[in-house]
Amino acid sequence: MTAWHDARRFLFVSPHPDDVELGCGGTLSALVRAGATAEIAVFTDGRLGTRDADLSPEAVARIRSVEQEAAAGVLGAKLRMLGLPDGGPHDYYRLRDRAVALVREVRPDFVFVCDPELPYEAHSDHRMVARAVSEAALLSGLPHYAPGHGAPHDVEGVVYYFPHHPTDLSPLDEAASLARERAIACHESQFRKGDPYLARLQAQLARYGEKVGAPAAEPLHVRERSALHIPDPSDVTG
Ligand SMILES: [Zn+2]
Repeated sequence: MTAWHDARRFLFVSPHPDDVELGCGGTLSALVRAGATAEIAVFTDGRLGTRDADLSPEAVARIRSVEQEAAAGVLGAKLRMLGLPDGGPHDYYRLRDRAVALVREVRPDFVFVCDPELPYEAHSDHRMVARAVSEAALLSGLPHYAPGHGAPHDVEGVVYYFPHHPTDLSPLDEAASLARERAIACHESQFRKGDPYLARLQAQLARYGEKVGAPAAEPLHVRERSALHIPDPSDVTG
């Protein structure tokens, strides 16, 4: 298997606008700077992301789409917004078909998505999109699966951001860290300057960075395609 960081073509899946920037924005930026191509696919429209009852859901979705466009521009990624309703309801098998069609169209070597097995993850958009994308990575190369949804394409593996058990720490140099911060700052409707959550996240990335001799590092969990289904023979437990 090609090491994920040596691959050339990536799909970054975001259940909502801003997830990719928060989870792996620095890594995305570094990959693009090294010559890879990256496309961000945002599954839902983020219309619930406000506490201002005077702002309509449609207005929130429009604001977030503009913010996401700016963030993708900062990171150097192409962008597509799938526009599914934030918070669902979602039909799992339809979501899986959307994910297979997406993978077959973008034809990435690796797909990045949030970890569907993060304990206590309460948001069904995260769990369902991540599960559907993981299963799509297994199925997209099979010609008899959804033949109307594009030509078969095998991905090499899936890289999970926001991982429960990190397998890799992706070092971020100053430029990648800065791009990450600038991309997150594009999501003005979601984060105020000096947001304490962002500060804690930044401190965590700095601690991971110390482990790999970099200013910061993003934690990731990498699975090759075959290890998405049957037990991974390289796993050692107990
Ligand atoms: Zn999210």
